[in-house]
Amino acid sequence: MLLDRALVRLLPAVPKPVVRRISERYIAGEDLDDAVRVVRRLNDEGKMATIDVLGEEIANADEARAIAAAYIETFEAIEREGLDSNVSVKPTALGLKLGYDLCRENLENVVTHTGGRGNFVRIDMEDSSTTDDTLRLYRELRAGGHENVGVVLQARLKRTVEDVRALADLKPNVRLCKGIYLERLEIAYRDFEAVRANFVQALEELWDAGCYVGVATHDEYLVEQGQQGARRRGLDREQIEFQMLLGVRPALGDALVREGHRLRIYTPFGRQWYAYSLRRLQENPRIAGYIAADTFNRLVPGRNGSR
Ligand SMILES: Cc1cc2nc3c(=O)[nH]c(=O)nc-3n(C[C@H](O)[C@H](O)[C@H](O)COP(=O)(O)OP(=O)(O)OC[C@H]3O[C@@H](n4cnc5c(N)ncnc54)[C@H](O)[C@@H]3O)c2cc1C
Repeated sequence: MLLDRALVRLLPAVPKPVVRRISERYIAGEDLDDAVRVVRRLNDEGKMATIDVLGEEIANADEARAIAAAYIETFEAIEREGLDSNVSVKPTALGLKLGYDLCRENLENVVTHTGGRGNFVRIDMEDSSTTDDTLRLYRELRAGGHENVGVVLQARLKRTVEDVRALADLKPNVRLCKGIYLERLEIAYRDFEAVRANFVQALEELWDAGCYVGVATHDEYLVEQGQQGARRRGLDREQIEFQMLLGVRPALGDALVREGHRLRIYTPFGRQWYAYSLRRLQENPRIAGYIAADTFNRLVPGRNGSR
């Protein structure tokens, strides 16, 4: 365990090909065809999906526009293939760090295109330097008449319950998650139980406000809180969904589907897989074992699991 924690800090020093191999489970592949194949399999298993075009490492406006275009292609594929999937977009991939207006234009483009197809865009939430701008983007889209769009709130942030209250009049469609970004102590909870408690409070207040919530977690305690709360409030199957990440705790997801819950799997694809993969490995409690096994398998070819 101590070794695992130490390795998390050293992850950026792990060679990219190793990161790539040990994070394969988290990513559908490099191309849209890969995402289509994975989502079809998920749909066959009774799971919905949300497709993420990886692109937060973009460097200029043309690249940001290319990501927006990739989303539009993704919608065309979802429709053509009859998949049960929406999309998740990261404001930075659409150019937020290059300029608010550039991002807004790209996002509105994607959302407009999607609305025409009766589909839905989830705006992911990134680190706290983007929270205000992301909520502003959401408000402006809603003010512009776009209903097919939702946001994400992070239980790790102390401001989140206030954000729930400030957004309540819009009855937002919210994905609630813990939040992956390491934030300053002044603005974020570090304590595991405090993050859980804030998650439960935000969930209850979202429901009080009549919001549709995607409960995005692999934490069994919070999954249970979601199930119990939904039962207590008499929510039917269509009024709540659970969400999980591709490659993370699939057995827990299978159990939810068997119990009749709706489950959506976050399915990233694209060439810019590195930053996303590092975040997923950071959270993997057995990261040291994976790196060791990868190294061992390459040193001793022909072992189980070698490639
Ligand atoms: C659908 C979805 C969308 C998300 N969108 C956002 C977003 O927009 N913004 C944002 O900041 N965060 C997002 N996240 C990430 C989220 O904030 C957490 O960082 C992540 O889900 C881990 O938190 P947890 O609730 O699963 O609890 P944890 O306590 O971190 O995990 C619970 C258990 O799940 C297992 N586990 C978790 N992660 C891994 C892993 N990578 N590999 C192997 N096992 C693992 C472990 O067994 C762990 O004990 C999203 C998560 C999901 C499920």
